[in-house]
Amino acid sequence: MKFYSLNNTAPKVSFDTAVVNGIAPDKGLYFPEEITPLPASFFEHIENLTNEEIAFTAIRQFVTEVIPDNVLKDILKEVLDFDFPVIDITSNIGTLELFHGPTMAFKDVGARFMAQCLGYFSRASKNEVTVLVATSGDTGGAVANGFLGVDGVKVVILYPSGKVSDIQERQLTTLGQNITALEVDGMFDDCQAMVKNAFLDKELLDNKKLTSANSINVARWLPQLFYFLFAYKQAKSQDKEIIFSVPSGNFGNICAGLMAQRLGMPVKHFIAATNVNDTVPQFMQTKEYSPKPSTATISNAMDVGDPSNFIRIRHLFQNNFDLLKDNLSAYSFTDNETKKALKEINDINGYVADPHGAVGYLGLKKYQELHPDTYGIFLETAHPVKFLDIVEETLDEKLEIPAQIQKVMNKTKASIKIASYDELKNFLLSS
Ligand SMILES: *Cc1c(COP(=O)(O)O)cnc(C)c1O
Repeated sequence: MKFYSLNNTAPKVSFDTAVVNGIAPDKGLYFPEEITPLPASFFEHIENLTNEEIAFTAIRQFVTEVIPDNVLKDILKEVLDFDFPVIDITSNIGTLELFHGPTMAFKDVGARFMAQCLGYFSRASKNEVTVLVATSGDTGGAVANGFLGVDGVKVVILYPSGKVSDIQERQLTTLGQNITALEVDGMFDDCQAMVKNAFLDKELLDNKKLTSANSINVARWLPQLFYFLFAYKQAKSQDKEIIFSVPSGNFGNICAGLMAQRLGMPVKHFIAATNVNDTVPQFMQTKEYSPKPSTATISNAMDVGDPSNFIRIRHLFQNNFDLLKDNLSAYSFTDNETKKALKEINDINGYVADPHGAVGYLGLKKYQELHPDTYGIFLETAHPVKFLDIVEETLDEKLEIPAQIQKVMNKTKASIKIASYDELKNFLLSS
């Protein structure tokens, strides 16, 4: 299986090169050359398979030439060592909890899978790979955790000083080993600009093997399709048409869901739920794609004005708008509506959602107004304690801090402060 660039002017590459490159030399996103549906019997008997077996069967075709089956099985065992339960909220709504991993955000699976792949690809090379990543919060923690202790890989994370939550900062700065946190005097955009500069700096690239770990990387994007299969396995017995509502920012997660559909999963419709950063809902109304600067919201992991993975979704439907519309609806919601939804879910059965999950819930409700005879699953992409202040204030209730988070609260922060690109470059060249 080869991967080609969606800009179509870069050479096709194998999975390992696509992972190490991150983005193609022509700046296009990589996309698999073929998607072969799984046999119908796989879905008919999916409830008899373990999560590891499901994941192995689903992803094997994309990686098989570069990762032997036994290695792939070992990787999946490492990556999937926690639960992905679907919890009933009402008789026709459930939530898929994706926050039982080490950093309690759904990005754990993609980050761990990428880390394991990169560790495997660099096993024979003497040159260490340095993963350089800018974070506004959740990505950094998931990447740091995923790569912790992986041989041959160093991770350097840039985060904006004073702009991430206390929990998020501790998740980034307390790990040690092969993980270094650089605390940037600036905003997230400054961090991202420094990372971009580094990838264009010839002197640096001649001395260092650099790679990125952002969500467009195929090794972070593709394993997210597992979630939808795990949920389908649990919800199948409902005997109703199943639909998914995905709280979306960069649209990587929902695009992976549409890949699961393309692999034959019998789910006909997906809902993209966004906050007021509504570039995609607008597109689905007007057929005009007009990216805009992002607006800050309480579901801040989805504050994206130009979602990088949406191009993959359009491509998956051959840029055919009507075909896309048959499979995807998109709705946007304000912070006020999101807070009301947090309360509404809590009133139904005491369930505590996070602001991102609440946006997913709203999208589902909206679609079900016209399609009541469905079983809808909204994705809970982060544990509510990661958004402690807003959830406690909205529900007027204290949340218990789970063990994964307790653990980092007692550790001491270690970061290196930088304020300019030159300082980043000096750090990379001297380390
Ligand atoms: C990253 C993130 C999202 C958005 O996922 P995309 O794949 O970028 O659409 C939603 N919720 C949480 C908590 C996240 O961290």
